[in-house]
Amino acid sequence: MIQYEVPISGDNIDKYFAKGNRYNISYQRIKRIKDRIKLDSSNNIHVYIDGSVINNGSENITSIFGITIYDDKERLIDKYFSTIEQWLTSTKAETMAFFVALLLINEDKNFIIYTDSSNVIKNYELLTNKWLSTTTRDILKFNKNNALWFNIKEILDSFTQQLDVIKVKSHSNNKLHNELDEEIRGWYDMEDRLANTLIIYNTEQYKFPIMWNNYIIEMNLRRFIRLLTRTQGLEKFLNLNRNWRYRLLDVKWEIVFSYINKQVIGETTYKTDKFICKQKRMKIQRLIEEIPTIELMKKSSYEIYQDFKCVFCYKKKEDFHHVWTCRHNRKILKQIIKRTIDKLIRLLKEYGATVDENKILTDINKFDIFFPKFRKDKFNFIDLIKGIFPKQLYDYIEKLEVIGKKNIVSLGTELLQYVMDETKQHIWLPRCEKLKIIEKRHGITEKDKKKSDSNVGKEKQEDILQRPINLFGRYEDLEGVKEYILFGKEILDFTVVVNRVGKI
Ligand SMILES: [Zn+2]
Repeated sequence: MIQYEVPISGDNIDKYFAKGNRYNISYQRIKRIKDRIKLDSSNNIHVYIDGSVINNGSENITSIFGITIYDDKERLIDKYFSTIEQWLTSTKAETMAFFVALLLINEDKNFIIYTDSSNVIKNYELLTNKWLSTTTRDILKFNKNNALWFNIKEILDSFTQQLDVIKVKSHSNNKLHNELDEEIRGWYDMEDRLANTLIIYNTEQYKFPIMWNNYIIEMNLRRFIRLLTRTQGLEKFLNLNRNWRYRLLDVKWEIVFSYINKQVIGETTYKTDKFICKQKRMKIQRLIEEIPTIELMKKSSYEIYQDFKCVFCYKKKEDFHHVWTCRHNRKILKQIIKRTIDKLIRLLKEYGATVDENKILTDINKFDIFFPKFRKDKFNFIDLIKGIFPKQLYDYIEKLEVIGKKNIVSLGTELLQYVMDETKQHIWLPRCEKLKIIEKRHGITEKDKKKSDSNVGKEKQEDILQRPINLFGRYEDLEGVKEYILFGKEILDFTVVVNRVGKI
C-alpha cells in the first residue's frame, strides 16, 4: 500500500508548501513563525508584505519578497525573506508575499495585512466578493500568476476568521512598510543567503496546472499561446536562408511587427479592409524579399521572362536588391534617404523632443541604416525598405531621453511606413509602369502570365539547387519563450541576446 502524507490537522502550510531539503529550510521557517504568532499574547497581528525585482530582462534578474510581523504594540514578532524563480515580476513577488502571509494565519487572532500592491488588493477583493463567484475560467483570465491565485482562493475560501487587507499608498510615510521595503533592498546584496519558497499547486479547482516544457504557465493562457505562435513564426522567419543576416544584426522586432500590422487610418479609412490586407501583404512580401521582380517571376513563368533584364538599365538581372540599387535609381534613392532623415527629425520634434538638430543630423548620418548600397554584414537602407528597424537606431533615440518607449515604437512604425510609401511611389510604381509597356511590346498578356511553366528549365533548376544553405546561428526550441519565463526578457528581444552570446 502506498502511504500518502496527509496532514492530520489540515494545516495549510503542509498542503501548499514543499518540505524542501537540507539546503532549503523555508518550510521549517514558516512553521516556526506560525507557532511564534500563536504564542504571542497580542490579539491583533499586523503583517506587512512587499516584493520587488532588480536587473529585469538580464540573466542577473533577481526577485525578493519579504514579510514582517508585529504585535499590537508594534513589537516585531518575526520576519521572512525569500527569493523566487520563473516569471519574475514585482507583482509576482508581492503575490507570493501575500500567499505566504495567508499561510501564517491562525484561527484565534485577528490579522491585518498591509500591502502597497494594487494588483493584490484588486484580486483579493474580487475573490472575496460575496456577490460574485469566481470560476476557474475567471482566474485563468488573470494576466499573471494564475496558479498562485488558485492557491490563494482556496485558502481564502477556507477562512472563518476576520481578515483585513489594507492598501498602503506606495512611497507614503507608513514607517513599518518603508522599513520592510528597505530591508528587502538590502537583501539583494546577500541574495545567495536566501532560499526559494517551494510552493505546491494542488487545489481542488486547479488540480492539473497547465505546463509548458516543465514550466507552469503563470499567465493568461490565450496570451501565452499567442506568444508561442509569434515566437515560432519569428524563429521560422529567421531560419530562412535569406534571413541569416538578421541572425547577426540586432533588429528591434517590436517595431517591425507594429509596422506590418499597422492599419492605415486617416485618408484611407473609407477604403475597405481589402486595402489594409493588400498593404500588409506588400509589407510581408518586402520583408521576405518576394515582391514580383523579374527574377522571382522567372520561377513561375520562366518561358516568358527568361531573357528579361532590369527594365531601367537593361543590363543586370532584376532581383530584389537590384530594384532599389539600380544605377538608374541611384539619385532617386539618395533623395529618398535624405527625405527619410528629415522625416525622422520631424518625427522626433512631433513627439516632443527638443533637440539640437545639427548634432542629431551628424549622429544619424553615421548610422549604417542610411547607407545607400547593399552590404552583407551591416545594415543599409535596403533593410529599412524591407521594414527592418535596427536596434542601434532605437537605442540612440532612447538615449536622447526625450521620448517614452511606447512612443519610440510608434515613431519607428511611422518612419518605416514613410519609407514604404516613398519607395513605392518613386521606385516601385514607375518600374511597374515600365514593365507593363515592355510586356505589351512583347505581346505578353495577363493570361500568358497566369499559365505556369510546362517544363522546368534546366537553368531554373540549377538556380534553385545552387542556393547556399546557411545554418549559422539558427534558432530552435522557442528560446525566446524560455528567456521570458526565466529572465523576464522581452519576448522579441531574444534574437539580440542570442547574437550577443555569439559575438563574445
Ligand atoms: Zn537596373
